[in-house]
Amino acid sequence: MKLICIGQNYAAHVKELNSKPTKEPLFFLKPDSAILLSQHPFVIPEFSKEVHYEVEVLVKINKLGKYIQTKFAHTYYDKIGLGIDFTARDLQRECKEKGLPWEKAKGFDGSAVIGKWFDKEAFEDVQNLDFSLKKNDKVVQEGNTTDMIYKIDEIIAYVSQFMTLKIGDILFTGTPEGVGPVAIDDKLTGFLSGEQMFSINIK
Ligand code: MG
Repeated sequence: MKLICIGQNYAAHVKELNSKPTKEPLFFLKPDSAILLSQHPFVIPEFSKEVHYEVEVLVKINKLGKYIQTKFAHTYYDKIGLGIDFTARDLQRECKEKGLPWEKAKGFDGSAVIGKWFDKEAFEDVQNLDFSLKKNDKVVQEGNTTDMIYKIDEIIAYVSQFMTLKIGDILFTGTPEGVGPVAIDDKLTGFLSGEQMFSINIK
């Protein structure tokens, strides 16, 4: 399976990164080895001095598809979740400056947190979901999926032109503003529609 991550999908986050909105969805992959094992802490890797949290709504693909049309995209996923796209911001900045790929900064072990899943039917409108991230006792990120620049169905249609989507693939749909660094002994807790979806200790 693959983890397909959308970058710069919330306008306020694009701004905080000093980036410009992209003309098309921006995506990159994380390998399956990036998934943080459940109940495990996130260990800050030695190669970075600036690992940022990015809380994101997740979508799980449940049907094989290629060249999926936007109008049918909603039939290709059945679960909605919440996770973190941990990013070695210092390495990412260096890669961006040199025009190099981001894998080192985005695909390292433990960089993909995947919390609980809900059936998408549990929600009236997947494009109107509140989600948030607490660092220790403080809310650091708050978003609503209505603010996505590229909606879930558009992302599925776009990505499936280039790569076949397979059962079990997971989309990370982008982070809202408020990204920031983690430090040893921090605790990150994610919420979707008021439900706690994960709780991660930083080591
Ligand atoms: Mg991200």
